[in-house]
Amino acid sequence: MRQDNPKHKGLRNQLVKTVKSKGIKDKNVLDAISKIPRHLFMDSGFIDFAYQDKAFPIAADQTISQPYTVAFQTELLQIEPKDKVLEIGTGSGYQTAVLVDLKAEVYSIERQKELFEKTKKFLPKVGYVAKKLKYGDGYKGWPEFAPFDKIIVTAGAPFVPKPLLSQLKIGGRLVIPVGDDVQVMTLFIRNSEKEFEKHEFGDFRFVPMLKESAK
Ligand code: SAH
Repeated sequence: MRQDNPKHKGLRNQLVKTVKSKGIKDKNVLDAISKIPRHLFMDSGFIDFAYQDKAFPIAADQTISQPYTVAFQTELLQIEPKDKVLEIGTGSGYQTAVLVDLKAEVYSIERQKELFEKTKKFLPKVGYVAKKLKYGDGYKGWPEFAPFDKIIVTAGAPFVPKPLLSQLKIGGRLVIPVGDDVQVMTLFIRNSEKEFEKHEFGDFRFVPMLKESAK
């Protein structure tokens, strides 16, 4: 296992400053970024990139999201300890680790088998244990464990999948980037069985949420 050392910690403190300067205020989110060894979530040899505020390629043509984006989505979720959170797009597991650090019970789905296998082995090694990880299609959500307090989608969704809205608790929050080439960060708050409040927060760019059921 590769290591975390004071040099990495120093680089993380710089990253926290950058993310803060871009408008992130949630102290718990900033704390998580200052603790989680992001370089270990990327292939070795990329240490110089790990603490820049940028997305970066991981396996299977996917990316580890930009730290600012991770922070922005997490801040919108308003995580409370013990929240049951569904994440679509486990990827490297970095966002998962942020949610676990905030004491959420995380259920995460990944559509790429290779990434699913890799991250499933990796997360416990760094001490960030999700409640459940699954290889499957995020468009369907995870009905067996619904309803969720919070749902986060970490890939660009061409539309808002109905199952995700229906698997949200009343009072729950869904954060999802919606769009094709560019995505609008969108927050849905479920006010009642049938009523959802919608807020939009500017443009982001994600890898696309893949269609079709998992092969
Ligand atoms: N949170 C991750 C983001 C990875 S990028 C991180 O920071 O590392 C988006 C991820 O969503 C990719 O791993 C991709 O394979 C996954 N994905 C794409 N379509 C999906 C789908 N329909 N269901 C579940 N995961 C999906």
